[in-house]
Amino acid sequence: MKKGLLIVFSGPSGVGKGTVIEKLMQQKELNLVYSVSMTTRQPRAGEVEGVNYFFVTKEEFQRAVYNDELLEHACFVDNYYGTPKKYVDAMRSEGKNVLLEIETVGAKQVMNKAKYDDGCLSIFLVPPNIEELKNRIRHRNSESEEVVEKRIRKATQELKETFRYQYVVCNDEVEDTVNKIAAIIKKKMDEYNG
Ligand code: 5GP
Repeated sequence: MKKGLLIVFSGPSGVGKGTVIEKLMQQKELNLVYSVSMTTRQPRAGEVEGVNYFFVTKEEFQRAVYNDELLEHACFVDNYYGTPKKYVDAMRSEGKNVLLEIETVGAKQVMNKAKYDDGCLSIFLVPPNIEELKNRIRHRNSESEEVVEKRIRKATQELKETFRYQYVVCNDEVEDTVNKIAAIIKKKMDEYNG
């Protein structure tokens, strides 16, 4: 059986990645599984251990890095985030398409590693306009003013990294965005599986 795809999905804070992913996951024909990351960030209200993230201490994170358990990792606004390798490999071996929702530094690491892997697909989600994005980051309410400002600065930096991705999709209207991304994944599945 051919391995599943490795789908790198990035976009700045507040662009709406979560909603888009939720809707993509409902499309069974896309055969997607979501890679749950490890993070040292504190859980937000409503976030569930093992569903949204594996919430770990800095020491646990460092141990995972040291033991080479992560496919990639990066620091984002004072916290560490990383992708457990084992799950990605196991799911791809079962033929599932694995979706990684990761920031741009980690994405670059994955793309470098997957340079000769024709099963790698990269998509970057951009907002229709930057002011609206800033408002969305500000009104998320769960973070301090300092973190909000850092996330806004980070978003501006991340928007300069879109050139690394195979596809850049604008999140104008959610249903439309989901349809566009679903079509990109299906096209890749057809090409990859021959
Ligand atoms: P948040 O704190 O808003 O959940 O995530 C902050 C950023 O970290 C987002 O851009 C998100 O996509 C990214 N992120 C989440 N998990 C990972 C991961 O495993 N690796 C990397 N490099 N970034 C991640």
